[in-house]
Amino acid sequence: MISYEVVDLVTSKASNPKASLLVIYTGGTFGMAYNESGSLAPFNFNHVIDKIPELKSLDLKITVISFSQPVDSSNIHIHHWKAIGNFIKENYDLYDGFVVLHGTDTMAYSASALSFMLQGLSKPIILTGAQIPIGSARSDARDNFLTAIEIASAKENGKSIIPEVCIYFNHQLLRGNRAQKVRSSHFAAFESENYPNLAVSGVFIEYNRLSILEPSTKLNYNDHFDANVALFKIFPNIQEYVLESFFNMPQLKGVVMESYGSGNTPNYPWFLNNLKQATDRGIVILNVSQCNGGKVIHGRYETSKKLNDSGVLSGGDMTTEAAITKLMFLLGQDKNIDWVREKIVIPSCGEMSG
Ligand code: ASP
Repeated sequence: MISYEVVDLVTSKASNPKASLLVIYTGGTFGMAYNESGSLAPFNFNHVIDKIPELKSLDLKITVISFSQPVDSSNIHIHHWKAIGNFIKENYDLYDGFVVLHGTDTMAYSASALSFMLQGLSKPIILTGAQIPIGSARSDARDNFLTAIEIASAKENGKSIIPEVCIYFNHQLLRGNRAQKVRSSHFAAFESENYPNLAVSGVFIEYNRLSILEPSTKLNYNDHFDANVALFKIFPNIQEYVLESFFNMPQLKGVVMESYGSGNTPNYPWFLNNLKQATDRGIVILNVSQCNGGKVIHGRYETSKKLNDSGVLSGGDMTTEAAITKLMFLLGQDKNIDWVREKIVIPSCGEMSG
């Protein structure tokens, strides 16, 4: 159970607001400050409000739910996803949009997880954060937050423009389950190689309407996950004992295998046999590429031809972040393995091309 505090932001025009937003502050560099030992550590939300006085002059009703103990997102866990998801589900009818302030390190995982948990959206859920804390002069926090707020409140003909879980960062709005953190020391921290930007912000915010999901009429909330999954990255000279011990971990139920290029792996018999034995034991193995762009195509090369025979499934153009969270989500539904194998290769909320 996550403990939290509610902060009602009194905005100057709150009597007749253009829209109402729920902001969920989970932590991350965004609100961090240097502690006595000189390391960056998460700080509470009051510190944030002091640094963005403009928040109070917006024509919006804003409520902030702040984790009592903000987290560095390297410590993010399923119980945090459940807390964020529940805050949104419980308040879904009360607000026009949602902004989640989150550390950048695992933002793409959380955005993917939330996209599976909250399907059938008609309102925006925008995750954002910062590379430099809000208290520093050159911080990107202010712009990221204020633009995320603008996007989360944007409507056309009374309807939200973005009925999706997204990441807004450094002028780009990306579909959450297509985004990846690709840079740690540049403001442009996120990219979505396999799907176009949903919007770009400059003087105006230009929405890429053809790429935005259609809104739905019924929210479908589900927060069951099973964390018994692992990530297996192929590299040259990988040893047989590594495969053997990896795939024989007793609790293991699902593996995302990061292969080369368009889905290639070594095709030595011992390699393929280990994969086959694992899938025969009921472990779901999903093949995604180590490349950020492009997709897995089993059989394009000789070196991926036999993966189907080993029971390995193609993750197409899914990101590793989407693949891991989708696997956790499907395994969490307590259905049989054939059901998981069938669903994992089908797009459910824009996370892969059909
Ligand atoms: N370690 C931080 C986090 O993910 C990094 C950041 O927010 O940029 O919480």
